[in-house]
Amino acid sequence: MWGRGHILALILAPLSIGQAAADTDSRCWGQAVQGGLLFCKAAPDSVVSVIADNQILQTGIPVSAGGVATIGIKRNSPLELTITSTDIDSVPAVITIGERDDPVRYLSGLDCDKIDARTDAQKAHAGRSWVKKTNAFSQFEQGDGARNGFRRPADGPESSPFGPVRQYIGTGPNGETCESQSVHRGYDIAVGVGTPVTAPAAGIITLGDPDLYYEGGTVFLDHGAGLISVFMHLDEVIASPGDYVEAGQLIARSGNTGRTTGPHLHWAVKWRNAGSSDRGGDFYIDPALLLSLDPNG
Ligand SMILES: [Zn+2]
Repeated sequence: MWGRGHILALILAPLSIGQAAADTDSRCWGQAVQGGLLFCKAAPDSVVSVIADNQILQTGIPVSAGGVATIGIKRNSPLELTITSTDIDSVPAVITIGERDDPVRYLSGLDCDKIDARTDAQKAHAGRSWVKKTNAFSQFEQGDGARNGFRRPADGPESSPFGPVRQYIGTGPNGETCESQSVHRGYDIAVGVGTPVTAPAAGIITLGDPDLYYEGGTVFLDHGAGLISVFMHLDEVIASPGDYVEAGQLIARSGNTGRTTGPHLHWAVKWRNAGSSDRGGDFYIDPALLLSLDPNG
């Protein structure tokens, strides 16, 4: 009971976004679907929270100087979200979220041992790679985020969408079977080795490494508003950490490095709540939805 009363008090207190109750929907726009990205109007000095089923999913989400909060929606988000902000004289926005229907894909015939690092050298390499990624994910750059839209970072067709659960069924050295499950958190584009990879939106490079253990050649591009693009399996890393790049600028060339089954570009976009110190609450959103996002609603 305490929890319910607490949350109700939070909603009824002056914690909300925007203007009048009548235009609840018009205060947020973007991709109101699991894996999508929402923009919500709020006072620039206010703090935005996302609530579902009487639980706070995210809080402290910053608002831009222009009065817009950029809010990622988890792949398995509840289907009704209440967006509140600390500006007064308004009511929360209640947003209905479209449901994804991601398939389960079965991949068999794999060597169980090849899924993870085995030797001491491999484990050390994987450990160093993890530290580099964690450091890059914990820094935040200023920028417009998705407010100017996103463009395709390489010229090729989709080869694997964001979202499916991949169920791996493998065989170990003594003939035993093993299973593991993972969600595909990126968007694969079928391109040959050496294809130009360009910035899908402007931002600052926060990682450029030719040889991470699982990812191979990797670039992180921070667009601002907590959004960071990750490009993996690159043959050549061109941009360097600290570089500012415009949308469409060459940053790398695609490849077949790291844990791959063939040449392609893996592009992932992580939404990080820049107002939270807990990086465990961050998650990946669907890059394909960003490509069709209308940033002006
Ligand atoms: Zn991929």
